Amino acid sequence: MDKYTVLQQYFGYDSFRPGQEALIDGILQGRDVFGIMPTGGGKSICYQVPAALLEGLTVVVSPLISLMQDQVLALKAVGIPAAYINSSLNPKQLSLVYERLAMGAYQIVYVAPERLDTERFVRIFSRLKLSLLAVDEAHCISQWGQDFRPSYLRILHFLEQLPRRPVVAAFTATATHQVRQDVEQILQLQAPVRVVTGYDRPNLYFGVLRPKNKDQELLRLLKEEKNRSGIVYCATRKAVESVCTLLTEEGYAATRYHAGLTEQERAENQEDFLHDRKTVMVATNAFGMGIDKSNVSYVIHYNMPKSIEAYYQEAGRAGRDGTDARCILLFSQDDVRTAKFLIEQPLENDALDPRQREAVRKQDLQRLDAMVRYCRSLTCLRSRILRYFGQEDSEGCGNCSSCQADYVPTNITKQAQILLSCVKRVRDKLGYFVGITLICDVLRGSRSKRISELSLEELSTYGLMRGLPAQTIRDIARHLEEQGYLHTDPVHGGLRLCEAAADILYKGREVTMLLPPEEKKGAPLTRKEQRRAAAATLSAGEQEIFEALRALRLQLARKSGVPAYTVFSDATLQDMARKKPRNMSQFRRVSGVGQLKSLWYGKAFLEKLKEYV
Ligand code: ADP
Ligand code: MG
Ligand code: ZN
Repeated sequence: MDKYTVLQQYFGYDSFRPGQEALIDGILQGRDVFGIMPTGGGKSICYQVPAALLEGLTVVVSPLISLMQDQVLALKAVGIPAAYINSSLNPKQLSLVYERLAMGAYQIVYVAPERLDTERFVRIFSRLKLSLLAVDEAHCISQWGQDFRPSYLRILHFLEQLPRRPVVAAFTATATHQVRQDVEQILQLQAPVRVVTGYDRPNLYFGVLRPKNKDQELLRLLKEEKNRSGIVYCATRKAVESVCTLLTEEGYAATRYHAGLTEQERAENQEDFLHDRKTVMVATNAFGMGIDKSNVSYVIHYNMPKSIEAYYQEAGRAGRDGTDARCILLFSQDDVRTAKFLIEQPLENDALDPRQREAVRKQDLQRLDAMVRYCRSLTCLRSRILRYFGQEDSEGCGNCSSCQADYVPTNITKQAQILLSCVKRVRDKLGYFVGITLICDVLRGSRSKRISELSLEELSTYGLMRGLPAQTIRDIARHLEEQGYLHTDPVHGGLRLCEAAADILYKGREVTMLLPPEEKKGAPLTRKEQRRAAAATLSAGEQEIFEALRALRLQLARKSGVPAYTVFSDATLQDMARKKPRNMSQFRRVSGVGQLKSLWYGKAFLEKLKEYV
């Protein structure tokens, strides 16, 4: 058997995705590998295909117990013998797994990092022929990453105790230089084959909205999703509670996940979501690492996350099966304060000394700054993300809220001059710098108490922008800041002019800026519009078949107690609806249908399809 046969017969896919082949080849040639691919890029197959081909055992280190179960389930479903070792097993179950391991019954075994250096574990594993050690979510090893897990540091110790070092393969979606370096150094990868694939996820729509009322906006967005699966991320436990209550009251099958719940409730809620008993998961960032539920069709951020890394990872949980999905962030100024507050919180069990801690804090603030700039961006959101990860990208993806808003380049030289001179005059009059709120009030001719107390109505710029929305003035100020004409003091928020401002004020430099067109505001496409746009994918008739197949899938999944997506992914059902196979050999040609699954489910699906042809 070769890798193509494994891909087709077991997993039912026709071709490898970018990067997969190089990593698999590396492993099969006995080299260490390091794969850096976005969430949903298909990292699992990079160690699962070799696991099916290699003679000895493949051990996978994975950070989350609850998710190993699903991975193992999915592997068994395609005919690859697999097991997991973690604290969810009772002593009897554990002994059974060890016994079978010794018999060579498994091709792949998932382990929790905490287990790695227990004596029994090491003893048993040093007697086995280990061909491959795969470290999933390898960024957990780095203190600089998002999700540092001290237990990941045990991996190296485990390796050193083995009589023979297996091939080591590391995988992560985190692209920052520091984390990459840590992974390679701490795991002591030996001249690894490095593969960094493109970070783009073209099937994801990116949108930022600044609603007046987030609850209403959320309900509006969810209405378009009907009974599709999705995640709503909130910044705090409190927000999770209130949003989850709101959705439940509105009749949504919502559940929640955050660190304040008991471990049991977390596990139950997660299961409910994975098995489609609940369609909306409302959660803090504690939820989701390693989740490979493939039919998540939207990820909405009720609050802004702390970094683009975190955002892209969380949003990336949508559309993993390659079907169109939406990632929408509901932004408000309050989010910036909350995020800052969270960054300043002292950590429990802080492993860092004060100097390191200060460096981390500074880095966190920089990351936050980039995130805020994303939220306020009027240019292509996707290319902002890609450039952040160091991937060159030309602007204009056509599938984000900035691209679809058709912002018009507008000459704002006049407004810029007024604004800058207002900043200067207020400062000259008061002798100190003030924030954008007061500047807006002056420009709009506000009659507020503060204005009269400070006698700012005497200024010549007072009321010069009457009638312009405060938000537009803020947008202009922000644009000037990004262009290096203005600077906001990070501590007290005071605005001051930069040197270059003189070019606009006195030398006639022109300023243009992208502004929303008169009527159309940058609302994202509705589901309906999006689906129409993607009409090429499924016709109305096919859509109907697809819905019927989905219903059948849920029925089958319930019957055997597995999550629906482990039966077939949405992408597979869509392909099925398109190809409308009539017999088994046609059925096998559907993407995502392997040999075993065609045997198990083929009959039921073929029968359902008969009703439509
Ligand atoms: P991640 O890189 O985030 O770990 P996964 O390994 O969970 O991604 O894969 C995401 C989805 O992509 C899964 O549903 C998987 O079955 C699918 N997938 C992986 N490789 C391929 C492929 N070569 N062709 C089609 N689908 C694939
Ligand atoms: Mg993964
Ligand atoms: Zn775009």
